[in-house]
Amino acid sequence: MAKLIDGKAYAEGLRARIAAAVASLKKDHGLTPGLAVVLVGEDPASKVYVANKAKQTVEVGMNSWEHKLPADTSEADLLALVTKLNNDPAVHGILVQMPVPKHIDSAKVLNTINPDKDVDGFHVVNVGRLSTGQDALVACTPTGCVMLAKSVLGKLDGVNAVVIGRSNIVGKPVAQLLLAENCTVTIAHSKSKDLPSIVRNADLVIAAVGRPEMVKGDWIKPGACVIDVGINRIERDGKGKLVGDCDFASCEKVAGSITPVPGGVGPMTIACLLYNTVRAACAIKGVKTPEM
Ligand code: NDP
Repeated sequence: MAKLIDGKAYAEGLRARIAAAVASLKKDHGLTPGLAVVLVGEDPASKVYVANKAKQTVEVGMNSWEHKLPADTSEADLLALVTKLNNDPAVHGILVQMPVPKHIDSAKVLNTINPDKDVDGFHVVNVGRLSTGQDALVACTPTGCVMLAKSVLGKLDGVNAVVIGRSNIVGKPVAQLLLAENCTVTIAHSKSKDLPSIVRNADLVIAAVGRPEMVKGDWIKPGACVIDVGINRIERDGKGKLVGDCDFASCEKVAGSITPVPGGVGPMTIACLLYNTVRAACAIKGVKTPEM
């Protein structure tokens, strides 16, 4: 049976290291990293994410600001708030919760954020920095995936990695990060032919598809590490249930290690947001980022 990769425990440990880093920045440099989160509208899931982000930001000792705007906020007003946050020296990280209402151009909003404060890593400048091997703020979920993979595999040099999914928020950035870690990377997507045989070559599988339990155990190379990014709500036995993109029951019999859903990649996302905020604050202030 595969070793379970406990993302909840890893994220807890990371948050403790972040809290220690924040305490040392306050003591040694008078620097308190600060994160501003902007929510437009009333999407219930987004409200929960934003509340969790604020709670965890405060718990590690950082400053947190929540800006809640009505759903009919104009694009101009949202861009004006982002510009104000760009110019606020106490704010080191800015996150605009996606999705924004349809009348707002999300790419325009993301690209208005100062790239040095872009803790979600979605600004084209950060995407470009990542893909050209420069120091970048990198999207949070992909960062979490690579941390978890390294926690079981150690150095990733030469590892055959297959990423299923090519979205801008998970698939592409995770592939770039793995390339930077010297993996041999294959990116598969909905037009890929014979996906099971592509996946069978992988020492490391990152599934970011959004299709419940699509990846089966007989696609997995024995001993491979499986990182399941998927979060899918399904009905089973008359009850609502969260499942990943991998069929956990069959995959855990073949894999060497596997993340559960929930409790795998999910908890890493906010922890990596806090990690990025500390990195951004240190870069803006010109101090060395403490080990985390
Ligand atoms: P997208 O819908 O943006 O992208 C899905 C990708 O999967 C696309 O590239 C698509 O290919 C590919 N795909 C779809 N069907 C197939 C198929 N049958 N075979 C192979 N590839 C396929 O999703 P996201 O990247 O945003 O999210 C993926 C999953 O990760 C979701 O379950 C989401 O909920 C979860 N997620 C979890 C997060 C967390 O843990 N915190 C954060 C973000 C996402 P094509 O490009 O050809 O259409």
